[in-house]
Amino acid sequence: MIPASGLRLRLLAGFCLLGAIGAVVAGAFALQAGRHLGADYSALAGDIVRAQEDTAELRLELDGLIDHAHHAWHMDRITSLVERIPERIRTIREGLARSEINAADYAPMLAELTQAEGLYRRLASTLDTLPPSVGDDVRQLNRLGHELEGSLAWTYSRLLQEVHQAAADQQRLMAWLSLAVILLVILVLLVAAALMLALVRIHRQWLSLRQLSVTDELTQLANRRQLWEVAQRYLELNQRDGGELSLLLIDLDHFKQINDRYGHPAGDAVLQAVAAELTRVARESDLVARLGGEEFAVLMPNTGTEGGRRLGERLREATSDLTLSGEAREHRLTISLGLATTLAGREALAQLYSRADRCLYRAKQNGRNRLEINAQP
Ligand code: GH3
Ligand code: MG
Ligand code: MG
Repeated sequence: MIPASGLRLRLLAGFCLLGAIGAVVAGAFALQAGRHLGADYSALAGDIVRAQEDTAELRLELDGLIDHAHHAWHMDRITSLVERIPERIRTIREGLARSEINAADYAPMLAELTQAEGLYRRLASTLDTLPPSVGDDVRQLNRLGHELEGSLAWTYSRLLQEVHQAAADQQRLMAWLSLAVILLVILVLLVAAALMLALVRIHRQWLSLRQLSVTDELTQLANRRQLWEVAQRYLELNQRDGGELSLLLIDLDHFKQINDRYGHPAGDAVLQAVAAELTRVARESDLVARLGGEEFAVLMPNTGTEGGRRLGERLREATSDLTLSGEAREHRLTISLGLATTLAGREALAQLYSRADRCLYRAKQNGRNRLEINAQP
């Protein structure tokens, strides 16, 4: 048995190897395709066609020479056409060497061209020695010319066929490459879209996880962690100018009785009702949190002792006016509150909390349903 990590490593190595082979093959193909696509077959085809035209014209001129008409004019034209033949052959040879056509495909035609060059040399020397009269020499010239023209016409037409074939291959390759590029672009777009979707989903999951981690499940209020983070951030941000921060700790009085009398679910409903009431009465800028059990807190940024006291009293009155639902409707619910205020930079959050907690304890000690205050140190 191969261990899972070993298997993963082998798979990874396999993928890397496949990727490397794919890259090498794709690179070689791209190189070949690039050369093939870069080849200029129309120039080569043009050279061959011009050479073909020359040989066709040579045949006409040689026939005209036999008819004796315009002898000198035909001779001039034949001389200039024959002079062009080696030049044409050289250009075609160079064009073929530059092209991406497989050398084996045109090797027989090159051999034929070499033979034709032999014929050309004989024709050229006959032309040099030809007297300006008609007779056997002219007929020999005509025969040699026809032989050369026949050989070249055949070779040129086969070469032209090869060039057309190569041009058609080039066009087919172009079409395949275009298709491959389109598919590649679609693939890249699909991968990018899938990545974007995955990122959005991960971000949403992260947000909802984050939300869950700072929210109290029963009341949907902020939990202790969020209250702590917000208070800490406020104290840090306002450390220089010493912004005021008040903290109210709230504990429901005799809450156990509700559970005992009406059951735990009724107790939960009361906790939710209190949470809604605290949120309704508190200001937008305050943070209402459930610390756990039947304990709540209100964090009041930019609020001094007097502002905190006023809000605490309002919360206490609103809670005692609250009509509970269901069986607990007869129960008169009250809360005890402890308030502490601080200036940023004066003390640590834990100390502020501890002072508010001592006030809450005192409120319980002093008979409940009341607010006790510990002004800033
Ligand atoms: P005190 O006035 O001294 O605060 O009395 P109390 O009964 O409110 O205080 P005590 O700490 O004795 O009881 C708190 C009760 O709150 C005990 C526990 O069963 C109940 N409690 C804590 N968490 C929950 C909750 O999530 N749902 C319900 N229904 N009850 C809870
Ligand atoms: Mg309690
Ligand atoms: Mg209590």
